[in-house]
Formats: sequence, structure tokens, C-alpha cells
Amino acid sequence: MDNCIFCKIANGEIPSATVYEDDDFRAILDIAPAHKGHTIILPKTHAANLFELPDDIAGKLLPVAKKVAAALKEELGCDGINILQNNGTAAGQTVFHLHVHVVPRFDGDGILPVWPQGSYAEGEAAALAQKIQAKMK
Ligand code: AMP
Ligand code: ZN
Repeated sequence: MDNCIFCKIANGEIPSATVYEDDDFRAILDIAPAHKGHTIILPKTHAANLFELPDDIAGKLLPVAKKVAAALKEELGCDGINILQNNGTAAGQTVFHLHVHVVPRFDGDGILPVWPQGSYAEGEAAALAQKIQAKMK
């Protein structure tokens, strides 16, 4: 993708504060961090979102997130880590090259909103689960 800033960063055409790199990914410090150390992991090949991401790259992504999370925990002494990945504007995605956020968290920091706790009517969850399951066959 010619005009994708994360393609350019991932492939080293634009300098970044890199914390990890391998053949498939570059992990960099987010420019506007939730906390210092907040890292985003960028695949080197372009995929706008999770739906476009090849399965082989997807399969390598969580081990990289785990590695980054462990290093952040050790360096920052944070109490927790969020792994987040936004798909689509409705979900808060602002850069349309897939990336995974690794966000250090500290007890009581309150930096991320907690979603409301909804509920299901009797039988509704089972019926919906069956419909979703059918989409994967
Ligand atoms: P999202 O809302 O999930 O699409 O996240 C995009 C993230 O990319 C935001 O947290 C931005 O702060 C971050 N970001 C945007 N441009 C850059 C950049 N040039 N270098 C590092 N992080 C960036
Ligand atoms: Zn890209």
C-alpha cells in the first residue's frame, strides 16, 4: 500500500521507536501512549484489519504480543496488560493497517472504559450462539 504510514513504519522507511522486529512484524512505541511504553505491533505486509490478515501471520501475532507484554511488565513494573485490536471506525480504529495495542496498566489507573454489562433473555444466548456457529461452517 503506497500511502499507508504503518506500511512505511513497519518496513523501516519512516523511523520509529522500535521495541521488537522480526521477518513479519515491527513493534513500536505508540506516539500518543495511554501510558509510557504503550506499544503497537504492526505486520510488515499490509492488511487493513483482522478480516484481511492471512492466517499464518495471525497465528504469529499473539506470541509476539506475549513477548512484548512480558518485556513491558519487566521494564515498567506494571500491574496488568491489555491486548487490544480495533477493527472498523465503530470499534475505534483510526489507522487502517492492522495493529495490536499492548497497553501497560497500573492498579486503579482507570484509563480504559469498561463496557456496560448487558444480559440475555431465557434461551436467547443459546439461539444466538447457534446462529453464529452456523456462519463458521
Ligand atoms: P487505532 O485507534 O487502534 O487505529 O490506533 C491507532 C494508534 O496509532 C493510536 O494509538 C495512535 O496514537 C497511533 N499512531 C498513529 N500514528 C502513529 C505514528 N506515526 N507512530 C506511532 N504511533 C502512531
Ligand atoms: Zn499498510
